[in-house]
Amino acid sequence: MKRMLIAGNWKMNKNNRETLDFISKLNDLLGDKKYNSGILICPPFSSIYTAGNAEKNNQINVGAQNCYFEPKGAFTGEISIDMIKESKCNYIIIGHSERRAIFNESDELINKKTHAILKSGLNPILCIGESLDERQTNKTEEILTHQITEGFKGISEDEVEKVVLAYEPVWAIGTGISATEEQIVETHNFIRNLLSSLYPNQFKNIIIQYGGSVNKANADSILKIENVNGALIGGAALIAEDFYQIIETAEKSL
Ligand code: PEP
Repeated sequence: MKRMLIAGNWKMNKNNRETLDFISKLNDLLGDKKYNSGILICPPFSSIYTAGNAEKNNQINVGAQNCYFEPKGAFTGEISIDMIKESKCNYIIIGHSERRAIFNESDELINKKTHAILKSGLNPILCIGESLDERQTNKTEEILTHQITEGFKGISEDEVEKVVLAYEPVWAIGTGISATEEQIVETHNFIRNLLSSLYPNQFKNIIIQYGGSVNKANADSILKIENVNGALIGGAALIAEDFYQIIETAEKSL
């Protein structure tokens, strides 16, 4: 069966009370059903401890939206992977386009974080994606190749299965304009093919999520694409009912 991970990136939204409200609603909606799709919510740092320790369906995983690669020390404003682990998180998003664009995160820094997360036993969700200008000037494959080869540098075939790759065209994030089915097919095929040259034994097992204006209306057409193993969802993941609908859609596509 194809691997599937439905993840919510809450960005800078939801305080502790709102986090608990969301989890309570999602618990009720999921009920006792056993899901083959992975389910993940990534609240802001201030709510990960609450989410990790909340009474909840044990299929709901909790993740963080960033981390620093050093274990401790004079890094004001940063948070270590062990601190995140203490909040019972098992995934960490890294290299989101907002972090690359607003906080100037480089591929080199993202690679250091990837190594540190793997060393700690957690799963990195490494985000990649081209800007509108890059797509319009036919640079998508060049950009993705660079982001993947730099982001995965030094990651062995043994550990690569733990890395989730999230393809998020920057122009589709938060815009309400998802990439077309044709663009997603073509780009995910390209990514899988590139991974096959880097990881000839494991490339089929690597989760490649699509992200960029996924919602309950378009999830079906996106999630049934062969090389799409789930979605990284912003806006629609803030509403428990919508997020649940997307999980159900993922499940039906398996
Ligand atoms: C995201 O934040 O990673 C994202 C894809 O957001 P949205 O679903 O709102 O486009």
